[in-house]
Amino acid sequence: MTLVTLADVLKPALREGHAVAGLVTLGWEDMRAYVAAAEAEAVPVILQAGPSCRDHTPLPVLGAMFRHLAEGASVPVVAHLDHGYTAEDCRIAIDSGFTSVMFDGSRKPLAENIDETAAIVEMARAAGVSCEGEIGFVGYSGGEGSAGTDPDEAEQFARQTGVDAMAISVGNVHLQQDKQGGLDEDRIRAIEAVTQVPLVIHGGSGVPVAQRRALAHGSAICKFNIGTELRMAFGTALRSAVNSDPDRFDRVQILRETHTPLVAATRTVLQAFKGA
Ligand SMILES: [Zn+2]
Repeated sequence: MTLVTLADVLKPALREGHAVAGLVTLGWEDMRAYVAAAEAEAVPVILQAGPSCRDHTPLPVLGAMFRHLAEGASVPVVAHLDHGYTAEDCRIAIDSGFTSVMFDGSRKPLAENIDETAAIVEMARAAGVSCEGEIGFVGYSGGEGSAGTDPDEAEQFARQTGVDAMAISVGNVHLQQDKQGGLDEDRIRAIEAVTQVPLVIHGGSGVPVAQRRALAHGSAICKFNIGTELRMAFGTALRSAVNSDPDRFDRVQILRETHTPLVAATRTVLQAFKGA
């Protein structure tokens, strides 16, 4: 059993100067490949169930899948709820065996975000579960724009909520299909100067790999969420498996062929975050 909390993997990452990947899962095929890749790289991994994942599969099912994979894994595995929008989302995840919950109050006014996040930290802590909060809204490619994190607000948020990890908005954008974006390093430095909490970058797929590597090793950013990049790798592998034989209809046969390419793509992602 190597199921651990978010704090269990982020504290050493902060101390030793590396980062852990928060990998966005959509189902059994990708979560299984992510764990295989983490084992091959001998690094911990955070399996994340976000809104579209739990629209498709109920949280109690996802919790059982994450825990089953963790039980057989040779590396630490975190079962993490990504973008919980209500206390109820977080409560269901905790009841479903998740070891970490993210509460996203970043669209709310500061005082409300702090109050609601603090209450969820308290609920999570009572259950032995970690909590990630978000301060400064991270926008979506082709959708809502971002609101950059104010360092003073980040300091207040970290101090008053007691979160184990703090997601920040520093030029990152969700759902980017290329790596043309870059993070505002001055703003990152200003935030890490005023708080000791491990920092999280959502929308990691849009961050150039060289910058991921540099910040993983030389900043308080300890968690990069990666979704789009690996969903694209999975989609490419799936399309090629479907097209390779028009007569084939058994989906297990087809999906089996996504495993090796997805493990390879995931290993490449994990390598940038690894410790020396
Ligand atoms: Zn996110």
